[in-house]
Amino acid sequence: MNKRDKKVRVGIIGVGHLGRHHVKHLVTIDHVECIGFYDIDESRAMVIANKYDVKAYDSLEALLSECDAVTIVTPTETHFNVASDCLAAGKHIFIEKPITKTVAEAESLLTLANTNKVLIQVGHIERLNPALIPLKNYSISPKYIEIQRLAPYDVRGTDVPVVLDKMIHDIDILLSLVNSEVESINANGISILTDSVDIANARIRFKNGTIANITSSRVAQDHVRKTKIFQQDLYITIDFLLGLTEVYRVIDPDEQDPDAIKDVRFQYGDKTKKIVYEKPDIPLFDALKEELENFTNSVRGMASPIVDGHAGKNALELASNIHDLILEDLH
Ligand code: NAD
Repeated sequence: MNKRDKKVRVGIIGVGHLGRHHVKHLVTIDHVECIGFYDIDESRAMVIANKYDVKAYDSLEALLSECDAVTIVTPTETHFNVASDCLAAGKHIFIEKPITKTVAEAESLLTLANTNKVLIQVGHIERLNPALIPLKNYSISPKYIEIQRLAPYDVRGTDVPVVLDKMIHDIDILLSLVNSEVESINANGISILTDSVDIANARIRFKNGTIANITSSRVAQDHVRKTKIFQQDLYITIDFLLGLTEVYRVIDPDEQDPDAIKDVRFQYGDKTKKIVYEKPDIPLFDALKEELENFTNSVRGMASPIVDGHAGKNALELASNIHDLILEDLH
């Protein structure tokens, strides 16, 4: 049987708020045989088994004995133990973000995956946000990046501080955009509703001079998910919620831009330049389904994980450093 014909037998671990959507998509992917799921909450398991007509296994071991790969969608504090069992059983894993609670745990999972020759993919779903797709058409070398991710309070996710729950999405995107090591970090934050940090701000300087300013809150009035990228002759603003990407470029006045919706000429000293405004088309697709297709195709050897275990660990490492600095500042 060639790779293309092979179906991947996938199980889901944890079918709560997000895991339910894993089930919903995995049952529709042609090259996947969704064998069922395991959830410690029996009444929840019953509801999901009936709704999607999938088998609820009564133990992790029973699920693992029948699949090639799993998606782990349990609360973050359980990731390490659940993932260790799956990797030790030789299963490929897709694990929701953050990969684990601590960097040491993430490193241990990477070693275990390497030993057992299986892959780890991490669910940093924003990397697949359709609004990021147009960036492939530009040469990105940011000088300054401004990022905001604000959300109203929701008890889910409060098992970890806001930096590990919300900011980590932007940290992962940031690390994919800036090809340089971190030089220094300034960070501060406050607790509002939980015992942990609910609002955080970090200013990160990279060795190549890029600076990023990231603000995250889980106690905001409204949802905001915006990123602004500033570089020589290029400004890109992305609204992840609206799926809107807008681009402003400075070009020579004689240059034509077939993608420009409008342009403005301006004079500076004896120079004339033109600013063009572009609004690239955003493809329509479901990021979670795309992510799960990428994972299962990676298991088939037909793709590579968009966010692999190393990228997940790197995002966690920077997030943990930021969080530690905030705690130092608070005490
Ligand atoms: P949830 O609490 O709604 O669901 C978790 C489910 O896991 C529950 O049904 C619970 O019974 C089950 N569970 C707990 N421990 C288990 C265990 N040891 N074995 C089997 N099942 C177990 O949580 P959620 O909001 O779905 O979040 C789950 C994970 O997904 C978290 O890591 C979270 O950070 C992540 N998440 C990611 C995104 C994203 O944007 N990528 C969004 C939301 C949540």
